[in-house]
Amino acid sequence: MSELKIQRKQLREESNPEPFEVAELEKVLQGLKCGKAAGYDNISPEFMKHLGPRALTWLTHFYTRIIHTNSIPKKWRTAKVIAVPKPGSVLAPTLFNLYTNDLPHTKSRKFIYADDICLATQAPDFESLEQVLTEDIEKVVQYCKTWRLKPSQAKTVSSVFHLQNAKAAKEQNILLSGLKLKHAPNPTYLGVTLDRTLSFKEHLKGTAAKVKSRNNLLYIFKPPTARLPSRRPIWKEPPPDDFTTKSAWEREWEAKDVPNKHLVSDPTQQVPGTNLTRRQWSTLNRFRTGHGPCLASLHRWGSSPSPLCACGEEQTMEHIIEACPLQRLKGRLDILHTADQESTAWLEDFAFAK
Ligand SMILES: [Zn+2]
Repeated sequence: MSELKIQRKQLREESNPEPFEVAELEKVLQGLKCGKAAGYDNISPEFMKHLGPRALTWLTHFYTRIIHTNSIPKKWRTAKVIAVPKPGSVLAPTLFNLYTNDLPHTKSRKFIYADDICLATQAPDFESLEQVLTEDIEKVVQYCKTWRLKPSQAKTVSSVFHLQNAKAAKEQNILLSGLKLKHAPNPTYLGVTLDRTLSFKEHLKGTAAKVKSRNNLLYIFKPPTARLPSRRPIWKEPPPDDFTTKSAWEREWEAKDVPNKHLVSDPTQQVPGTNLTRRQWSTLNRFRTGHGPCLASLHRWGSSPSPLCACGEEQTMEHIIEACPLQRLKGRLDILHTADQESTAWLEDFAFAK
């Protein structure tokens, strides 16, 4: 035995998969779709679905033997490859149209789309309808036979369009190759469900249901929010019961280290000076915060050659208001903060050297 064969034999003995069960085969067969063309073996899906218990048992053993011996019947390895344009491509319906261009003339009107043929006729009574349609169908069947096409009896239906419900529901005696056609009250043609009065109500109902199930599918991926997003609170968890804006604000102010913090004892109260002009108000706040265009800052920003005040000290905002001997409000930030009349006048006069 060759090395490969020995290996295969070992593998076979080691793996030895579980045999198939009849129930498994039955389940697969039930899933087959009816009305499909038979394969190379000419066995149709309907045939497989109706296998008896003996055939099922035989097939189950047969499949089990295949996996146990690791060998596939030689017949299965031959396959016939037929080039057929894919359905959905333009070529297939075009070829079919060319092929069936010489369909025989019929009394009833023909609607043809690709390989889907519809015969329609109208008559004052049902007998004439049945007669015309059966004759025309026979013509088409004969044509198909001649040109090796196979009309599908299972997929062919008859229906009546009539304003009277009872008459529309009346089953027609129309034959295809001797077999009576199935009556369909709501046939589907080219994806459109037709109804007896051609109001398209059935079709719209079906479309609405389809859209609804699609929408429901979307909800699985993104469930709708319980509330409108715009009405959702900005906090993730509800605040504690004793929460107040005032206490939260005070806590935050308490924890912050800012210049001249002592000026504000209660952060929830408005600071004085909101009635000042914009120029006075902004200058006042520059002193309160310690951030303004003093020479120390300007020097740092590269806008002044020197950081020094005319008095010789480094000119910070703090120096101007608290220490500079040249300024009238020396040591009076606390008073400036109150924005009293004198302070306001000083703010008005004060101008940074630009
Ligand atoms: Zn100074």
